Amino acid sequence: MPKVLIVGAGQSGLQLALTLREHDYDVTVMSARTPDEIRRGRVMSTQCMFADALAIERDHGLNLWEEQAERVEGLGVSVAGPDSSRVMDWVGKLDAYAQSVDQRVKMAGWLELLEKRGGKVVTHGVTTADLDRLTAMYDLVIVAAGKGELVQLFDRNPDRSPFTRPQRILSLAYVHGLPTRPEHPDFRAVRFNLIPEVGELFVIPAYTLSGNCEILFFEGIPGGPLDCWDDRPGPQEHLDRMRGLMQKFLPWEYERAKDVTLTDPLATLTGGYTPMVRYPVGELPSGGAVLGMADVVVANDPITGQGSNNAAKCAEVYLNSILERGDQPYDREWMSATFERYWDYAQHVTAWTNALLGPPPEHVLKILGTAQVNDTVARRFANGFSDPSDFQHWFMDPDKAEAYLAEVA
Ligand SMILES: Cc1cc2nc3c(=O)[nH]c(=O)nc-3n(C[C@H](O)[C@H](O)[C@H](O)COP(=O)(O)OP(=O)(O)OC[C@H]3O[C@@H](n4cnc5c(N)ncnc54)[C@H](O)[C@@H]3O)c2cc1C
Repeated sequence: MPKVLIVGAGQSGLQLALTLREHDYDVTVMSARTPDEIRRGRVMSTQCMFADALAIERDHGLNLWEEQAERVEGLGVSVAGPDSSRVMDWVGKLDAYAQSVDQRVKMAGWLELLEKRGGKVVTHGVTTADLDRLTAMYDLVIVAAGKGELVQLFDRNPDRSPFTRPQRILSLAYVHGLPTRPEHPDFRAVRFNLIPEVGELFVIPAYTLSGNCEILFFEGIPGGPLDCWDDRPGPQEHLDRMRGLMQKFLPWEYERAKDVTLTDPLATLTGGYTPMVRYPVGELPSGGAVLGMADVVVANDPITGQGSNNAAKCAEVYLNSILERGDQPYDREWMSATFERYWDYAQHVTAWTNALLGPPPEHVLKILGTAQVNDTVARRFANGFSDPSDFQHWFMDPDKAEAYLAEVA
């Protein structure tokens, strides 16, 4: 059986390792942290996964928290006016539910499951020098280290990367105590609040170490009022500052959130990164080659909440490509072809995500406005989060948008 090494125990690395074990591959995962260290660590993401990505996990028996985790049945959009009034408010129902399981819960659980299923787990923060040595010992080495330093092994692809700096400053808090949403008390939804020229606030139902919760997640345009985290406030001050911003820009969300409490002292996060597509093959000084996976090769801004979804889809594409390879070597040509199979899909996610980072063009404003009065449009937008390749057919292009809106009017 081929020996596969995966560096990085996140959504893509662990999913690929666990699914390769279904086929008895000799799999080793190198994780920077033990399961307990992950559980005791800081939150890492908001990780809302939509139906198509959840289905992949379900098919492989990896949906261990499906029953406990809150079901997310819709996606809502609100827009704030200059006087902080709510000038737009609608919700589109998802055809099948989404879920967000705190990566501290999921990755710790999956690491333990991998050992139970016969995978090897080595707790070690891998360096480039380590990789140089390790490539000689394995038939295939995959780097799934997210946005960690190992990405520097993979060159930026300028043709696919329009940005050279972060497009949003991120800050989030996991909270308990948000009351049911008054607009639709009978079902849970992700809410996408737009504050023109300032940024966005997402409110996302999730499952964390202490049960179900909600995540408040600001994306701020750099240099604007939501770009205010350089002093790295402590957890309570972080939450209070978020609430102050909500009171100023999104009073309807503040009303719900004014009495919330943090789920735990490590339930806040700040940061930002440059969206980037990289070449998939990393060359090592020894002449060895490693294949990059998920965020290592395609890192999008979380404005569209696609990173974990992409990671799940990337791991599934890589799994199939490995299985189809049989006994042939995993050479550079195969690595590039494997990545391009994933890019066939991921390019649409990147294009759509990058488009949402700019000021909305006229046709997008028209789509969002129509969704308020036309449920078909609202639903198509909401379900696009599960398969964003749909957006190329109606959302991304003014003429196609016009034709679609005329068709459903
Ligand atoms: C604020 C924020 C909100 C987000 N919200 C969403 C969302 O709502 N929906 C969504 O789908 N996605 C979301 N994402 C993106 C999502 O979290 C990532 O895209 C996804 O986790 C990427 O998976 P991955 O397997 O590539 O890497 P990760 O899940 O990041 O895993 C990488 C792993 O590699 C380990 N590692 C790093 N370096 C080394 C090393 N040298 N040696 C060993 N191990 C190493 C890390 O510790 C980590 O365990 C969000 C991201 C952020 C930052």
